[in-house]
Formats: sequence, C-alpha cells, structure tokens
Amino acid sequence: MNIVKNATCTFCGCVCDDMELHVDGDRIVKAKNACSLGESWFRNHTAERLYPDALIDGKPVSVDDAVETAASLLYDAHMPLVYGLSNITCEAQREAVALAELIGGVVDSHTSL
Ligand code: SF4
Repeated sequence: MNIVKNATCTFCGCVCDDMELHVDGDRIVKAKNACSLGESWFRNHTAERLYPDALIDGKPVSVDDAVETAASLLYDAHMPLVYGLSNITCEAQREAVALAELIGGVVDSHTSL
C-alpha cells in the first residue's frame, strides 16, 4: 500500500490540496480528507488503461489523427464552443482559453447548467 500525501483534488472548484491517497496497485482505495464527492471521484479512477488514446466516430485512432480531425472541425466551425473545463488543471484551462481565442470561439463551463 502506497500513501501519497498533499495530493490535490480537482473534482470541483475548491481544489482541496490536502488529500492523503492510499493506493493499492493501480487503484486509490482511500482518500483521506476528501469530501464524499472527492472520495467517490478518487476511488473510481484507476491507472489501468481501459480505453484507447483517442476515438473518431467510436473507432480507435492515433492521437495525431484525432488532433488533425479536431483541428479541422474547429477550423470549419462558425461558433466553436470550448466547454467543460472542470476536473482539469489551471494550466489546461489556460490552454483551452488560448485555443478559444485562437479560433474565435467562446468558453463556458459545466457550472452554467
Ligand atoms: S475534496 Fe470535495 S470539496 Fe475538495 S476539491 Fe474535491 S470534490 Fe471539491
């Protein structure tokens, strides 16, 4: 059993950074200091590779092909929406906003629901 201290939970906007994660193999089996949402989020993630790196129309493809297709779709879009942005780092959010600016799109998060 490995224990990782001072881990950060990125599930909601609180970004609690005092998690103590207990890891058994590829699984987090306990998330000390996490609220019930964070505990559930950590315990349902695994380092196992359950899915391919990328899909197009439900079929596995290379990341390069997926990026190429995504770029083409975004380039052709009239009002691209960069949406979501929860459960990701500040650095990834910064890149998403930069992408939206580059393609003339708009940004929204799941909190607008
Ligand atoms: S532990 Fe709970 S409150 Fe803290 S970031 Fe995770 S989900 Fe949010």
